[in-house]
Amino acid sequence: EDYYGLRRWGGGHFSADEKGFVCAHPAGDGRRIQLMEVIEEAMESGLKPPMTIRIQDLLRHRVELLAGAFANAIEGEKYAGRYRGVFPIKVNQLREVVEEIRDAGEPLGFGLEAGSKPELLIALALSEKAGSLLICNGYKDPAYIRLALLGTQLGREVILVVEQPSEADAIIKVAQEIGVTPKLGIRLKLHSNGEGKWKNSSGDDAKFGLSISEVMTVLKKLQKARLSDALKLIHFHIGSQVTDILAIKRAVVEAARYYCELRKLGHPIQYLDVGGGLGIDYDGSRSNFESSMNYSLPEYARDVVFNIKKVCEQAEVPEPDILSESGRALVAPHSVLVLEVVDRIAKVPEGPLPRKTKRTNHVIKDLLYTLEESKKHSQLERFHDAQQKRAEAESLFTHGYLDLKNTAIAEELYWRICDDIRQNLKRDGYIPEELEDLDTLLAEQYVCNFSVFQSLLDHWALGQLFPVAPLHRLQEEPTTEATLVDITCDSDGKIAKFTDLEDVRPTLRLHPVEPGKPYYLGVFLVGAYQDIMGDLHNLFGRVNEVHVFLEDDEENGFYIEETIDGFSTNEILDLIQYKESDLMRRMKTQIDTAIKNDTVKPREGVRLLNLFSEQLKAKTYLDTSSSKTRTR
Ligand code: PLP
Repeated sequence: EDYYGLRRWGGGHFSADEKGFVCAHPAGDGRRIQLMEVIEEAMESGLKPPMTIRIQDLLRHRVELLAGAFANAIEGEKYAGRYRGVFPIKVNQLREVVEEIRDAGEPLGFGLEAGSKPELLIALALSEKAGSLLICNGYKDPAYIRLALLGTQLGREVILVVEQPSEADAIIKVAQEIGVTPKLGIRLKLHSNGEGKWKNSSGDDAKFGLSISEVMTVLKKLQKARLSDALKLIHFHIGSQVTDILAIKRAVVEAARYYCELRKLGHPIQYLDVGGGLGIDYDGSRSNFESSMNYSLPEYARDVVFNIKKVCEQAEVPEPDILSESGRALVAPHSVLVLEVVDRIAKVPEGPLPRKTKRTNHVIKDLLYTLEESKKHSQLERFHDAQQKRAEAESLFTHGYLDLKNTAIAEELYWRICDDIRQNLKRDGYIPEELEDLDTLLAEQYVCNFSVFQSLLDHWALGQLFPVAPLHRLQEEPTTEATLVDITCDSDGKIAKFTDLEDVRPTLRLHPVEPGKPYYLGVFLVGAYQDIMGDLHNLFGRVNEVHVFLEDDEENGFYIEETIDGFSTNEILDLIQYKESDLMRRMKTQIDTAIKNDTVKPREGVRLLNLFSEQLKAKTYLDTSSSKTRTR
């Protein structure tokens, strides 16, 4: 059974094998990589979870899927223009990711998109082939414009997109100063809104883009500067993760109308750039719920192509080349965050029940009765009785009539009763409304060695859902309802919302953790935006990384091409101005004083200073290596 919905949200990229291990299918053919094997190999070279596994071939595969979908749509619609993609670097700036996409995309006409000066520097350096396409978005100062024009001078196809009215003046000025004719684009502020969490990227109050009257002003400026012919592209972006295909259709039609009007005014526009927004179905429900999308990749491509063609046909204007800036859809699937469960916090105690004596407090006797006589009353009545008695025990404690030990016994009995009620209800098959949340109430907390703030920022900040599943034991039925908590000292550091077909689930059903054996969970589809946006809360920082590739000549083979160590403590402390040598000096002074005062023996002093020094060099996350014997 597919408990974790891998077949739903996996998009064909993930599945469980016969032995219950999660496998990735990086190339869309029969070849697969078992993720536990990757973890084992990484551990042999000293890298432990928390860890990001990047499945590099999946990047190539996604580029090919996107280009293939547009190629089919263009052929199907007999569309006259071509399709090109640009990868927005902001979605994942890691060099290995950008290079892989560039290499896979180059033969298909793909290029890069930059949204800031640092990203432009990356894009320029990586656009190594003549004619490489480079779209320049974001706020631009004169240096940004000069850099972009450097690309033009080197023979790259650089398009500077005017996003603010004032940018037109700045671009004209710099271009005239250095005598280079730029290629220009205009970002439109469409009336058509996106749908989903990021829908405020368009509409009247959007931060970017030009309104109709601003477009007209910019056109006049271009005409005055004899740059009307430089206008090669119009662009819109209605927000990331657009959940509803209707929003995309509306925006495409509106932008295509702009294109036709501008062509009629004589501007030789070549590209209609439909921006990003192509979604990822994080929950596999194929709905217009926030974490999903109600369309497929081929449907998206067909709708873009069809609607542009229709508008152009009506206006009798030649069809433009289509450009898209899909980021999330290209990179989200390629990375998996691996977490190790290091502890569990359970409410229901294990072990024998307390014994009843003559002196046992009446509240405890009553609770024991409710627990043991499970058939005499309805489960709802037992629940109410337990609630009443627990409240009574708390009140007796507050007023000094019940000691700490007996109050603890009362609390434990309360949880045992709730657990017993839950099991009876499951057997009966009928759950009264008031008891529907019992599973959530009784859920355990699985403590995982990671930081939500570093690795899943959008989950904390925006409530974005990511699919979570164990990486092994999938042939075993999971029995424990749990939420996941991280190791930051912050109660927000948790995952208590999980993807589900129908609704968001407050808990995830997991396997009981076996003593001495590790239990690994994967958080999937985290390759877009999460890497770079993470923060240093509690100073945990970047996690370890392994980059895996398929081994060509073996059916289930892979090799780890690269590993990147997560932050060590001294690296992270350095970022906030603590120098290792200074901390060591301060610590040594304190230990020397303790030795002088004879509160610490000299030999012990040396040992303590070594411990401090070792831990400065160690990784920031919990070191669980001594407590686990084997991985399977
Ligand atoms: N293009 C622009 C201008 C953007 O602002 C963004 C991100 O929001 C993208 C492309 C990438 O969008 P997505 O990741 O949804 O494809």
